[in-house]
Amino acid sequence: MSAPWPRWRASHWNTFLLSIILTFVAVVLAAFTGLVLNGERAIREGHLMRGRALFGSIVLTRKWNALHGGVFVEKAPGMLSNPWLENPDRHGDDGTVYTKKNPALMTREISEIAEREGGFRFHITSLKPLNPANVADPFEREALASFERGATEASTRTENDGKPWYRYMAPLLVEKPCLGCHAKQGYRIGDVRGGISVSFGTVEAESAIHRARWAGVGFALLTAALLILLVWRMVSGLHGRVVAAESRIRVMALTDELTGLANRRQAGELLLQEVARSARYGRPVSLILFDIDHFKKVNDTYGHEAGDAVLRSVARTAAGALRKTDLGGRWGGEEFLAILPETDAAGARVLAERLRAALDGLRTPYAGRELHVTVSSGISTWAPAAPSTAAVEIDVLLRQADEALYRAKDAGRNQVSG
Ligand code: GH3
Ligand code: MG
Ligand code: MG
Repeated sequence: MSAPWPRWRASHWNTFLLSIILTFVAVVLAAFTGLVLNGERAIREGHLMRGRALFGSIVLTRKWNALHGGVFVEKAPGMLSNPWLENPDRHGDDGTVYTKKNPALMTREISEIAEREGGFRFHITSLKPLNPANVADPFEREALASFERGATEASTRTENDGKPWYRYMAPLLVEKPCLGCHAKQGYRIGDVRGGISVSFGTVEAESAIHRARWAGVGFALLTAALLILLVWRMVSGLHGRVVAAESRIRVMALTDELTGLANRRQAGELLLQEVARSARYGRPVSLILFDIDHFKKVNDTYGHEAGDAVLRSVARTAAGALRKTDLGGRWGGEEFLAILPETDAAGARVLAERLRAALDGLRTPYAGRELHVTVSSGISTWAPAAPSTAAVEIDVLLRQADEALYRAKDAGRNQVSG
């Protein structure tokens, strides 16, 4: 029997489930990737801020020094004079020796302290250094070149002894106090005279990034797995309910509500199938159309509900009288159809007579009464001489059964005609 409407097949459910799961997984992965990347960006921005702050503080310190044209400190035993300055030492009246710390020397000395104690470094450098110790390394050279082209800062991630480091550099512009020492190099105010690079270890930040990445992957997988489980449970629950609803609707669409027999639609389908099968195998098939006699009287005398009760008990008794392989259906009103596969005209007559007798013997209890009805039956038989796949004239078969039924009515009812 072909279904009268398309079913939602298993493959549809699988596609539905898969697309929901893929959507969820994609959303979860995108969300976690976004979170992790955002965290990493924040950490890297933190490095930049730290680089700027360190650079800013050393520039301020230098400025203070330059404003004083260099600062003299008492020359302690073992302290070297700055060899890049002319006359760095001064002698006090009391014999004390003072030596000049200019901004460059001060920067280098602060850097040494910072490296020892603070885990970061400064390096003052320029493309034309007076002091060879201030020669730029490759990162600084590239940064200085970019400052010449107008860039205002440069940064990079690098490695130092196998550990991650962050490097930041910004230019030092020539200001008026600088000219005291650097005018002879041809600098003018506003020129990029060099730069200070700041470096610090980022091992903790990098391992925090690493941990956050793995935590992100773990949470994403866990969330995706939970969502998949949830969606799977929801969809399979929905699937079960839809399948159950589908089969309930199917049964309702094909079953007569009052009698529980096949309704006209399904009986017609079954008839079509059985007749086509018998034609294909060259086997006979018969059908009995039977109609309750004077049924109107039952309704008129005892009421519609009494009529319904009779219809139900007639259907039940008829179904019991048929063989297992026969198929019964309500053809309409108080008219029923029985399809008898593998049955010739003689066999159908025997069965129709048995059916008639069984219904004649039936008493339907209703409101303290026992209602009695009879049926008239018309038989028609399809007995192909040989197997054939030619279209079968169902209408002809039904019309013959109908005509036989009316002959039985005309002949006095409660009888079989074929
Ligand atoms: P005949 O012997 O010629 O078949 O006479 P009849 O009275 O059985 O036939 P008729 O066609 O005159 O009346 C059929 C009646 O069946 C009329 C209709 O109201 C009744 N009927 C049809 N379907 C139902 C139903 O579902 N329930 C009830 N109670 N009555 C029904
Ligand atoms: Mg009738
Ligand atoms: Mg009728």
